[in-house]
Amino acid sequence: MKYYSLNNQAPKVSFKKAVINALAPDKGLYFPEKITPLPKTFFDNIDHFSNTEIAFNSIKQFVGPDIPGDILRSIIEETLSFDFPLIGLGQNISTLELFHGPTMAFKDVGARFMARCLAYFNQNNSEEVTVLVATSGDTGAAVASGFLDIKGVNVVILYPSGKVSDIQEKQLTTLGKNISALEVKGTFDDCQAMVKTAFLDLDLINQMQLSSANSINVARWLPQMFYFMFAYKHLHKKHPNIVFSVPSGNFGNICAGMMAQQLGLPINHFIASNNENNAVAEYLKTQLYKPKPTIQTISNAMDVGKPSNFVRIQAIYKHDFSTLKENVSAYSFSDEATKTAMLEMFNDYDYVADPHGAVGYLGCQAYLKGHDAHCVFLETAHPTKFLDVVEEVSQTKQALPPQIQSVMGKKKVSTIISNYEEFKGYLLQKISF
Ligand SMILES: *Cc1c(COP(=O)(O)O)cnc(C)c1O
Repeated sequence: MKYYSLNNQAPKVSFKKAVINALAPDKGLYFPEKITPLPKTFFDNIDHFSNTEIAFNSIKQFVGPDIPGDILRSIIEETLSFDFPLIGLGQNISTLELFHGPTMAFKDVGARFMARCLAYFNQNNSEEVTVLVATSGDTGAAVASGFLDIKGVNVVILYPSGKVSDIQEKQLTTLGKNISALEVKGTFDDCQAMVKTAFLDLDLINQMQLSSANSINVARWLPQMFYFMFAYKHLHKKHPNIVFSVPSGNFGNICAGMMAQQLGLPINHFIASNNENNAVAEYLKTQLYKPKPTIQTISNAMDVGKPSNFVRIQAIYKHDFSTLKENVSAYSFSDEATKTAMLEMFNDYDYVADPHGAVGYLGCQAYLKGHDAHCVFLETAHPTKFLDVVEEVSQTKQALPPQIQSVMGKKKVSTIISNYEEFKGYLLQKISF
């Protein structure tokens, strides 16, 4: 498969090059040149396929021929080494729990897949790749865990000091080895700006191979198609009309669901569920796309004013606004509404949701008011990752799962930086070793 830049000013590249570069030289996101739907019989017979086979069939056209089939299969098996349970909340709503991986957020899937692809590409390569990642919490944790001990890959995580949860900070800063954490005196936007500046800095890019593990990277983004297919497999016999509500920030997850639909997954509708950062919801109303400054909310992983995958959604729908509007609804919810939804799920179904999942649940409720369907919302992180708000709303103490307990006692190691020059100095000193 060849990938082209959505800015159309850069050469087409292979999957391998798209993964290593992360972003095209013209700063565009990579997008597959062609999407070939899977045969209808694949979806008719999906009950007979294992998760690995479903995933392999979905992604092989996007990877081939850069990774041989048997290796791709084992990468997928290692990536999907945990469960993806579906839990019914009443007649018309189910939650798809994506938080049973090592860092307890859906980003484990993309991070584990990408790390293994890079490890394969790098096995006979003497040059190291330095993966930079700016995080508001979950991405850094998933990338740190996914890339630990991957040969030839160094990971540098930038996170805003004092603005990630205690558990997230432990997940970022306690692994050591090829994972380093930079604690930035600033905001998430400052972290992201430093990473972007580094990608344009000739002093750096002439001396080191930089990559990114944010959802702009096709190897982080595309594996997120898998679990839409898993949910379909389990529900399609019972429910002829399945729709997905996806709590969205950078819109990578929902955009992967749309790719699954392009492959032929018989899904009728997507619901983009947003907190008060609602640039896309406004766009669907007005056809005017106006990115906005970020608003801080309790579903902080979705505090994104300018979603980076919006351009990919435009590409999937071939810039046809009316098809997009037919296929996608978007809603925006306040923190108050989110807390009320968390409480409602707790009282009515004995279900403890995290704030991001609760926004997804609200999206289902809003859509089902006018439509007859079965709505699956993605539960994108384990509730104990957002312990303060979850315990406040449910008025209960939550037990910490083993994945979280195991990092709590470890010692934090981070390097504090305040500006780009310090960041650059840190990277240059790393090469000189
Ligand atoms: C990253 C994240 C999201 C948003 O996903 P996007 O792909 O950026 O839309 C939602 N919930 C949680 C818990 C996350 O970590």
